[in-house]
Amino acid sequence: MIKPVTVIIGLLLSASAAVAQTIYPIDRAEILSGAQFDFKVEFPDKVDPAKLKVTVNGQDYAAAFGRAGTFVEREDDKDQSALLLRDVAITAPGPVVVEAGDGTRSRKVTWTVYDTPPRKAKNVILFIGDGMSLSHRVAARLLSKGIAEGKTFGKLAMDDMPHMALVATAGSDSIITDSANSASAYSTGHKSAVNAMGVYADRTANPLDDPRVETIASLAKRRLNMAIGIVTNTEIEDATPAAMVAHTRRRAEYDPIVEQLFAAKPDVILGGGSANFLPKASSGSKRKDDVDYIARFREAGYPVAMTAGELNTLAAKPETRRLLGLFATGNMDGALDRKFLKGGGVKKFPEQPDLTEQVQAALNVLSRNEAGFFLMVESGMIDKYAHLLDMERAVYDTIMLDNAVRLAKDWAGKRGDDTLILVVADHNHPNSLVGTINDDMSATPNAPFRERVGVYEKAGFPNYPAPDAEGYPSRVDVSRRLAIFSASLPDHYETFRPKLDDPNEPTVKGDEAGTFKANEKYKDVPGAVLRPGNLPALVGASVHSGEDVILTAIGPGSERVKGSMDNTEVFRVMAEALGLAAAGR
Ligand SMILES: [Zn+2]
Repeated sequence: MIKPVTVIIGLLLSASAAVAQTIYPIDRAEILSGAQFDFKVEFPDKVDPAKLKVTVNGQDYAAAFGRAGTFVEREDDKDQSALLLRDVAITAPGPVVVEAGDGTRSRKVTWTVYDTPPRKAKNVILFIGDGMSLSHRVAARLLSKGIAEGKTFGKLAMDDMPHMALVATAGSDSIITDSANSASAYSTGHKSAVNAMGVYADRTANPLDDPRVETIASLAKRRLNMAIGIVTNTEIEDATPAAMVAHTRRRAEYDPIVEQLFAAKPDVILGGGSANFLPKASSGSKRKDDVDYIARFREAGYPVAMTAGELNTLAAKPETRRLLGLFATGNMDGALDRKFLKGGGVKKFPEQPDLTEQVQAALNVLSRNEAGFFLMVESGMIDKYAHLLDMERAVYDTIMLDNAVRLAKDWAGKRGDDTLILVVADHNHPNSLVGTINDDMSATPNAPFRERVGVYEKAGFPNYPAPDAEGYPSRVDVSRRLAIFSASLPDHYETFRPKLDDPNEPTVKGDEAGTFKANEKYKDVPGAVLRPGNLPALVGASVHSGEDVILTAIGPGSERVKGSMDNTEVFRVMAEALGLAAAGR
């Protein structure tokens, strides 16, 4: 009986020793030569500055970085000291050992600074299917290509690429990532925490003071004078697009994110989310101040598009080299609503562009920069619909992403071989394709709806109409449709049917504050069943899952994409293709 106690004490001791000092960047960080970062040491107690010893490869940190940092004796008015030095960089490649001691305790981390080979790619296009799972991808293939006798009649453009890898998505704080820290891993090469982008999430309460790491957009502009484009169909302030330029520990800080977007001035900015650009007094505004960011962007030389027509006209003008397009106050609508059902926000914003039009406009404008460009394109509603258990809408937006990828591949193909194209999800959703839902049950018309789920040979093949020129079947309410189920569920009514009016709303606010319960709206749909959830009541939607995601790539530098990779390596693939390092120049 004694031994286990000893083991437990041993574990406790090693755990408390491990929290001695926190050093940012964290242990095992891989840092691009010359990329800027903030160096921070957090001490768990108030320390005597005279006893402070912080070294970089054995040398005093101030000598190593060229200047001393700020010592904060009582951070956040607590007995905890910190040392902070912003905007440093290391040029020489190799291991870097950082040690921080306060006279009693000491902590050591090791970073790796890496060089890049000479530039291979003029342009980089990073496509992100937000929350795109393998089931979305397979369903998009089945619907947009058709299948007979087990073979589809073609490949998705995103699948038809020479290089493929599995990408691990965990963050610095959790095995489950959100779109902020996952996009941040792609844009900076550093791990971060849930809700954080472009920073290491420190212990202070201020969501805007965390130690920063440089983004690929900043590096490409600063080092190579490249043009930068950010394209999405969510709010432009949302995590994935924002993470290309912004630095905050809390992704919900939309007003400061717009300010950071303005300061960074990407050349092309296209998406939804005008609400946080409009001054507080304007109708539809969600800003807390009176600043009109649409006016400020105009003054800074950005023509502004609010509709697909304006976007196409402005992008076609040879003199347009910068462009702001905001096509909805919130998220834009997905392909199924815009093109077929006219649900969601389509009535309010009937002239939203398709993601393919946004990408074409971005390519037109960005390619006018002789120094090349970095463009991030997000099909962001895949994730939002997956959260809402709205499988059809998620699949249609996966088809839309694939159309945008094809457009970019065709564009790049005509130029020769100067553009690296990457297609990746940022995290998974726990969705699986388990069969088909078969409404033709003439032999057993009164069977409960779950008996209509065809599995194995009873699944057969779905009977969606032949896809149109863009790969979309004209309807989703067919009699034999794909059965995609999520493994993460809030309490909700399963109707086994696509939602033809508006996107699915599985839950509403519960009786206790912060909780959710099943939306009774679907209770009386014939055949609907109440699915008791397997998630806490505080979670009102399906959630992300921790499986790896798929990365495919084509173009110069894409051969680096193979096998099993970490999400921070996606940054490195792009940095290497562009030769972004300072070393060797
Ligand atoms: Zn999500």
